[in-house]
Amino acid sequence: MQIYNTLTKTKQEFKPIREGRISMYVCGPTVYNLIHIGNARPMIVFDTFRRYMEHKGYEVNYVSNFTDVDDKIIKAANEEGVDASVISERYIEECKKDMKGMNVREATTHPKATEEIDGMIEMIQTLIDKGYAYVAADGTVYYKTRSFEGYGKLSHKNLDDMQSGRTLLVTGEDQKEDPLDFVLWKPKKEGEPYWESPWCEGRPGWHIECSVMSRRYLGETIDIHAGGEDLVFPHHENEIAQSEAANGVPFAHYWMHNAFLNIDNKKMSKSLGNFFTVRDISEKYDLQVLRFFMLSAHYRSPLNFSDSLMESAKNSLERIKTCASSLRFAISGAKEGGITEAEEAKLKEAQGFVGRFDDAMDDDCNTADAISVIFELVRFINNELRETGTKAYFTKLSEELSELTDVLGLVIEEKEELLDEEIENLIEERQQARKDKNFARADEIRDTLKAKGIILEDTREGVKWKRES
Ligand code: AMP
Ligand code: ZN
Repeated sequence: MQIYNTLTKTKQEFKPIREGRISMYVCGPTVYNLIHIGNARPMIVFDTFRRYMEHKGYEVNYVSNFTDVDDKIIKAANEEGVDASVISERYIEECKKDMKGMNVREATTHPKATEEIDGMIEMIQTLIDKGYAYVAADGTVYYKTRSFEGYGKLSHKNLDDMQSGRTLLVTGEDQKEDPLDFVLWKPKKEGEPYWESPWCEGRPGWHIECSVMSRRYLGETIDIHAGGEDLVFPHHENEIAQSEAANGVPFAHYWMHNAFLNIDNKKMSKSLGNFFTVRDISEKYDLQVLRFFMLSAHYRSPLNFSDSLMESAKNSLERIKTCASSLRFAISGAKEGGITEAEEAKLKEAQGFVGRFDDAMDDDCNTADAISVIFELVRFINNELRETGTKAYFTKLSEELSELTDVLGLVIEEKEELLDEEIENLIEERQQARKDKNFARADEIRDTLKAKGIILEDTREGVKWKRES
């Protein structure tokens, strides 16, 4: 498996620290609002990478944080007149719903910054003790950027270039010894959440949280650290400076960065206001279409969002689903009995697609090429479906197709389980059908729900439902 490593600017053969295991940290969202589809890009591409590595037999310890203390969260909380935790908890829940819709699996651990403050204080203290950080008069703790020899190695910038871009200290930074120094801990302001610390009542800077959570859940040196390319500098550069100075060992062996999701060829971002939330998209499309759209490009290529690309993603996904359902239909009516010799030969041919799929994914997770291979398999299967075949043969083809779509996290089976909202909509429709004396439709809905294990009960307060246990 070759991975493009931002640190070395080359594709490198992936070698895990421990045989058969991967430790991976992906920087997660700041939870002050619904996630937008730009935030969804790293979630989908790195979830796919994880699925592929598991498919290859690795055990992946996948950690992705929620940044739940930040200026934007505090601002949203003040506007609503609620505690910051109300905002962050709400949007963590909403984010998890979106992840479920996109079939992004939950991480092994989803740490939250506010639950890791002790670890941050401890790491900051270590940095002070080792001479990498200093405390200003008001209790702000800064990282002394120039004290870390490797600073700039990830973003391939040198300190003097950075310096020339930032000769002046911005207001509020006049306590810094050097404009390049960054905040590890800052004093509280009125109305902000804060924690006790040896330096002042306050809260951590953003970068320290990932260094601490990564170490706590994955160890001092990890295999892979990932995130969007906007995080290379300063966030990831600062994480390296903090972790390597504190721990005295390399932080991450491979750094993977996804390119931006753009709109009108500009980065989609909340601050520019040019964004769609995942929720917006879910009103028009099944989120599987969004997942397919994201995977149709290589993760390191910029991807421009447009209605026409979403429509084409929808049609492409539909083609795969149609093939899967034709196979299911063929299986139900096919001849019993073992695979014939001719089918055996065809299966070998079909196996070739799996090999080429793996080759594409082994080449720095090239999902665009992997999807092309899936379409070749779809064409092959559609061809086979023109002839009669044995149940065993069609079943094998079906398993092969699912194996590949599963690696990409694309759900091609009909949905088995109804969501609460879908159930409630059906119940409402049934009530209306009864009012309209359309009893046939009302019964049909009752039967559909029954088939999915939903039991209805007519009570005086209205219709209640429960799932069959
Ligand atoms: P944030 O909440 O802004 O810290 O972002 C969470 C994750 O989404 C980070 O990995 C960002 O790099 C990534 N991200 C944000 N906007 C985009 C975008 N337009 N395209 C791709 N990735 C993005
Ligand atoms: Zn991070």
